[in-house]
Amino acid sequence: MKFLLIDGGHIIDSSQGIDEIGSLLISEGKISWLGRGEVTPPQPDYDVLHAQGLIVCPGFVDLHCHLRQPGFEERETIATGTRAAARGGFTTICCMPNTNPPLDNQTVVDYVKSIVATEGVVRVLPIGCISKGGKGQKLVPMDELASAGVIGYSDDGKPAANSRLMRQALDYGRDLGLPIIDHCEDTSLTECGQMNEGTISTKLGLRGIPAAAEEIIVARDLALAELTKGWLHIAHVSTEGSVDLIRRAKEKGIKVTAEVTPHHLTLTEEKVIGYNTNAKVNPPLRTKRDIQALIQGLKENVIDIIATDHAPHTEADKLCEFALAPSGITGFETALGSLMSLVHDGKLSLVTLIARLTYQPSKIIGNKYGKPGTLDIGTPADITIFNPDLEWIVDTKAFASKGKNTPLAGSRLKGKVMATIAQGKLVYKDDSVRVEAKVLDKMNYG
Ligand SMILES: [Zn+2]
Repeated sequence: MKFLLIDGGHIIDSSQGIDEIGSLLISEGKISWLGRGEVTPPQPDYDVLHAQGLIVCPGFVDLHCHLRQPGFEERETIATGTRAAARGGFTTICCMPNTNPPLDNQTVVDYVKSIVATEGVVRVLPIGCISKGGKGQKLVPMDELASAGVIGYSDDGKPAANSRLMRQALDYGRDLGLPIIDHCEDTSLTECGQMNEGTISTKLGLRGIPAAAEEIIVARDLALAELTKGWLHIAHVSTEGSVDLIRRAKEKGIKVTAEVTPHHLTLTEEKVIGYNTNAKVNPPLRTKRDIQALIQGLKENVIDIIATDHAPHTEADKLCEFALAPSGITGFETALGSLMSLVHDGKLSLVTLIARLTYQPSKIIGNKYGKPGTLDIGTPADITIFNPDLEWIVDTKAFASKGKNTPLAGSRLKGKVMATIAQGKLVYKDDSVRVEAKVLDKMNYG
């Protein structure tokens, strides 16, 4: 494998406290050198990627996405989903188990891993179900799934509705050292719910989903985490009240981590006006006030990470009456561009944003499956290179994802991924990025 020198970029790596202009050398798939000075690769021919004016950081790590395979290949496959991830700068992604069949036993997990090995372009780490078939009745064989390599358990798409089951899962999860990831929703309050409950839902005549539907289950789960001393991870936090509950739980020492999506951080319920089914998502887009609380939570580390909840659907799925449309937003390819608006508006620092996309989620996953989220010397080279200031229009036709379902279609975003390197391989490159082959005078290598 040829050496690759990433030259002259602005390197930001929270895991090592690096924030400086420098260069980085990749050899045999690993990061072999990083620093400010000149470096001569130890072999005469190598490639140079010119990164002047670009940010160079660890590859993004996504703890929550839906790759739809097996069972829903018309929406996404591991091949298309991992390519979409690469275009979005993600080099490690964790896929949710609500496929068909669901990831509730070792055979299905092994099957997914075998497709990833042949068709995936970035690292994929599976999440197992909490309950058999994701039906909320009987616990999965959690230790079997742990040895198959799941990084946590979730019945995402639905909450773990049964408190006794949730308690058991947290108990076993504690012994296995793995998180129970809950989609917090009291479904008795959200039946037929279409969007955030408020004046806009009333005006549009759509059944509302109150913030309390989320907060009730967040509160229950925190109580169970306290009882069991298990590890609770709260998926896609969307309300101010949830942020307050998690903040208090962390102050009490309860073992809880939490994530927020790019869409919940940047878009409000107003996106639904006009009955835009591509803005239908669960939990729903909320209010400006919720967004403020989510950003504050992210800054204070009450919310640990950003996760996309990439949820592709077909155009036919979404081309229907609002009430009949499925929930979900395709997320990989717009994540950075939409999140950069928080940096450009002065609401979040670039260093914090990158930490919440790299180092922080890697701490949740641990180092069992590679060492994501760092540019540490000797680790497999997972690197994202982006232009923080480049403006572009979201053209869903250019997406690698089969899912074109985003309320950002046609919007102008500022900040774009220019190249992605996963385990030493250049898996995505924007046409404007220059990679130059160099051959040094062989005399120097006598
Ligand atoms: Zn969910």
